Amino acid sequence: MKEHATKAAAFIQDEARTNWHDESLWFVRSKRDKAAHGIPEWEQLRELASQIKDHTLSHLDEYLEAFEAKAKENGVTVHWAADAAEHNRIVHSILQEHNARRIVKSKSMLTEECGLNEYLEEQDMEVIDTDLGERIIQLKEEPPSHIVMPAIHLKKEEVGELFHQKLQTKKGATDPQYLTEAARQHLRQSFLQADAAITGVNFAIAETGGVVVCTNEGNADMGTHLAPLQIHCMGIEKILPKAEHLGVFTRLLARSATGQPSTIFTSHHHKAKEGGAMHIVIVDNGRTTQLGRPDFRNSLKCIRCGACMNTCPIYRRSGGHSYDSTVPGPIGSILTPGIDLKKYSGLPFASTLCGSCSDVCPVKIDIHEQLYKWRQIIAEEGHLPTAKKQSMVMAGKVLSRPGWYKMAGKSARWVTRWLPRPLIYNPLNTWGKARELPEAPKESFQEWYRKNRSAS
Ligand code: SF4
Repeated sequence: MKEHATKAAAFIQDEARTNWHDESLWFVRSKRDKAAHGIPEWEQLRELASQIKDHTLSHLDEYLEAFEAKAKENGVTVHWAADAAEHNRIVHSILQEHNARRIVKSKSMLTEECGLNEYLEEQDMEVIDTDLGERIIQLKEEPPSHIVMPAIHLKKEEVGELFHQKLQTKKGATDPQYLTEAARQHLRQSFLQADAAITGVNFAIAETGGVVVCTNEGNADMGTHLAPLQIHCMGIEKILPKAEHLGVFTRLLARSATGQPSTIFTSHHHKAKEGGAMHIVIVDNGRTTQLGRPDFRNSLKCIRCGACMNTCPIYRRSGGHSYDSTVPGPIGSILTPGIDLKKYSGLPFASTLCGSCSDVCPVKIDIHEQLYKWRQIIAEEGHLPTAKKQSMVMAGKVLSRPGWYKMAGKSARWVTRWLPRPLIYNPLNTWGKARELPEAPKESFQEWYRKNRSAS
């Protein structure tokens, strides 16, 4: 796997795209700010949401069992999957049982995480993603780059060209309304012919056994209403104890995600329609391990609003694909190393630790502190690259010896003032690739202090 830094370096080669990506996400962040400021009790809502999640995570086993019992009472079939492979096998077996081959799917980061599309396609099934952004990247054969706006890295000109090739729209057409209409017409047939609809789950209510799916396009509703079989896939952390808690989260979710007061559709599914069947697959896939890590337990509070991505200066200027994980950005850099620390040991370093992610998080996850914690663990477990490890050892020696420190400062001041520029800004100086060193002062602070203040 390529390091985040390597992929980010490739992304920023296209300066115009980088600037446009940065500005688009900042625009969404600004909308979020306006929406949040419109609610005087915003901070209380965040605190309440965080406490509800805290409580739920502490009693997760009880609430999951209560949810299962209630869902079964409603006539829903509930399945449990320990990992991605089991999740995929279960979904496949449900589809086989119902002779379903054509599937419409609404946006679900969990099924992305499990690689469900690829798995079902290998079993000769047709899976059509029906969220517009998801359909675009499915046609482009790319993974999503953002959890709420999966095709945010693409310009309308690129979507126009893609639709021209795949959906035979007019060459050069870039009008979003025209392109969206073309996607609607194309998806309509898939909805009408689908044997099954698969959705993700935003919230699952233990008290009622129902699941809640939030979308802006109504595609999850269209799929589940038309297809005889509906399957809802959810991570174990999606549980809320009671229906009365839902309003806290729906108010936070849409405002944090896109600055809307609520998602256009907030649909509750409690039982199958007449003549239909409803299944819920509850997935662990590493979540209980994360729950058992006191420093990272809070990351399971995430409601996948994407606000931490929209505000992150690194995400905005490196693009979602540079993270090489299903959930990119600050929260992804906490969750993904939990799955494979060695492979993803670079991700917690893809942050300035400015804390903006923690400030906007609607459920008050201490994101930047958890990133810092991962860095410490990565260093302790020996996963740092050799160059970084050695430079840290050297820095430790210099900083703990005043004599060495003074000598290093003097040499650095001399080098930056007198050495020819190509000797300083060369390929070995990766820090200086895109940055200028500050102008070196003639003397250190200590020297200045001795001359000017020590007598007084
Ligand atoms: S960590 Fe917080 S801000 Fe980021 S996606 Fe999750 S809920 Fe939203």
